[in-house]
Amino acid sequence: MSIRNPIKILPPVLANQIAAGEVVERPASVVKELLENAIDSGATEIIIEIEQAGQRLIRVRDNGSGIPQHELSLALSRHATSKIRDSKDLTSITSLGFRGEALASISSIAHIKLASSVDESGQGWVIECHATEEEPNIKPIAHPRGTTLEVRDLFFNTPARRKFLKTEKTEFGHIDACIKRIALSFDRLQIELIHNQKSIYRLSPASTELDRHRRLGALCGQDFVENAWEIDVAQHEIRLHGWIAQPTYSRANTDGQFIFVNGRVVRDRVISYAVRQAYQDVMYGQRFPAFVLFLDLPAELVDVNVHPTKHEVRFRESRLIHDFLFSKLKNAIAQMRPATLLSNSVDLRSSAEIETSTVGIAAEKTTTEQKFYPQHHLNFSTNNYHTANRRSAFNDFTHSSITELPFDRLPFAQHIEQLKDQPLTTDATDQVQEKNGNYVTIHQSNERPVLHFPLGFALGSIQGIYIVAENNQGLILVDIHAAHERILYERLKTSFWNKTIATQPLLIPFSVSLTEQQCDLLQEHHLELESYGLIIDRIAPNQLAVRAIPALLSSCDMKNLMHDLVSDFSNDNYSAQLENRQNEILSRMACHTAKRAHDVLDVAEMNTLLRDIENTERSGQCNHGRPTWKQLTLGALDKLFLRGQ
Ligand code: ADP
Ligand code: MG
Repeated sequence: MSIRNPIKILPPVLANQIAAGEVVERPASVVKELLENAIDSGATEIIIEIEQAGQRLIRVRDNGSGIPQHELSLALSRHATSKIRDSKDLTSITSLGFRGEALASISSIAHIKLASSVDESGQGWVIECHATEEEPNIKPIAHPRGTTLEVRDLFFNTPARRKFLKTEKTEFGHIDACIKRIALSFDRLQIELIHNQKSIYRLSPASTELDRHRRLGALCGQDFVENAWEIDVAQHEIRLHGWIAQPTYSRANTDGQFIFVNGRVVRDRVISYAVRQAYQDVMYGQRFPAFVLFLDLPAELVDVNVHPTKHEVRFRESRLIHDFLFSKLKNAIAQMRPATLLSNSVDLRSSAEIETSTVGIAAEKTTTEQKFYPQHHLNFSTNNYHTANRRSAFNDFTHSSITELPFDRLPFAQHIEQLKDQPLTTDATDQVQEKNGNYVTIHQSNERPVLHFPLGFALGSIQGIYIVAENNQGLILVDIHAAHERILYERLKTSFWNKTIATQPLLIPFSVSLTEQQCDLLQEHHLELESYGLIIDRIAPNQLAVRAIPALLSSCDMKNLMHDLVSDFSNDNYSAQLENRQNEILSRMACHTAKRAHDVLDVAEMNTLLRDIENTERSGQCNHGRPTWKQLTLGALDKLFLRGQ
């Protein structure tokens, strides 16, 4: 017989420790909560000092609004917050914190010292708390305006938690990642990290476009910046902006993915699914795209009160969010063409600068400045909206202004109708497309000819595998098979989805020998095959005749294609989603038709291929996600030959 104990209310310290288990998993969780508090207080400068990766000490100092003396003790109490007042406020949260739980939780599992001052007098108050039920006492202290929160000996009284901590290096890694994510979102903040008395980094506030890109490079790597495309799109009251990397800059894991909803770092399935889908056609295997994406939407449309660590959100209209992200990202990825990538990249940079000039930066360019700009700038909108708008909503946030804080309506709502489905191409791209098919070489007085095609003109090929071409920037190398495969695939898709696949009967049907079972399988799918323009006939128990093929596939390797189709159709797990499955089949057809290495192309054919790449969506990577072309700039060539060094 089991003995049942009577129900009792837990002592507050124990209740807090249990709650802390949800909020404070490791030192990085404390850093996150303290940083969020500092941001909510309107701080512009934050210094984070840690020792032993936060296990011995975490001290966060800010220059925000401070906490008045009579509220210090309350700040450490459970369910005490200055950020919401009633359940109504929960429906439109504009601050990072709102649960009133973090400081209470932390103070139950560590020694805490909270010092603060609300004015410039240099005088403040300090409160100490040692995870006991004793009433903490408050003493005066010299302190500049702002708050310092010190957390010592984390988990000193919860050995079970302490045991789960990893090495100092790992825990430091978590803290570093947490700070960097917040720094990406709040780019007006100056943040310094000091570890074991050594300054690790100090991020300067980014007030100009150049600063932002510099900061992006510091946080995500210069490599990412060089491969990233800036995106900025809006529909109704939803805005998506940030940077997405080219598909060929794929990653082995999700470490290069950053998602922010109204400035908050989140993990969100709706968003990551939409992104994954948008990249689906250009990234294969176990690769992951890299991106930094900010989704801004009215606070009423998103519930942030979903998880104790506030890492998750719930959208009121998740379908709408998904569709918006998917369509805009897919469109952006499709538009990553040579024209936007190469010869116009300077124009595109200057378009970034024109935008910048509206927030007060000179439009001049220097080489170092250019280095920090992402290569590509996909700006759908013409408005001068600047991230500062939303962020200032946080920065202006003070205790007294909570209820008055105006809902931050995004100022571009009126543009939405014009913006919808507006193509991404720049004027310069259009220029190229208009002249499609003709070689245009414009001579500018005394200067070398300007090759107006982004991928320039073919000079020849290497072993029939690579095209060597010259353009304005230098040398272009094209993987013939990869490029041809993508172009065919895109054409097949277009005609398939438009139901305009032209079928071409074969004068002499192509017969393929397979096992009886394999013939059964293909025969079973003959209607589906017909929709792709493939007409097959059984001519013997173990033989099929291909009677017609899509006109686009003039020289298809029919035998291998049939074998591939057999394995596709016999695979039970074969793409559950019909659209994916259809695309995969079209992709196979393209692959078996594309020019093989050593097929001989003449220069005119090579130039046609270059023009096709320029005019085809998603042409930067083949159907398997490999790059189709590469630029070797004159600068890179000079380096190779140690010229001018
Ligand atoms: P929450 O952030 O959810 O309100 P916390 O436990 O993190 O809950 O903080 C409790 C309260 O203490 C906050 O609502 C805020 O009023 C005050 N506070 C905490 N940290 C700071 C800070 N760095 N600057 C100003 N006020 C702060
Ligand atoms: Mg908080």
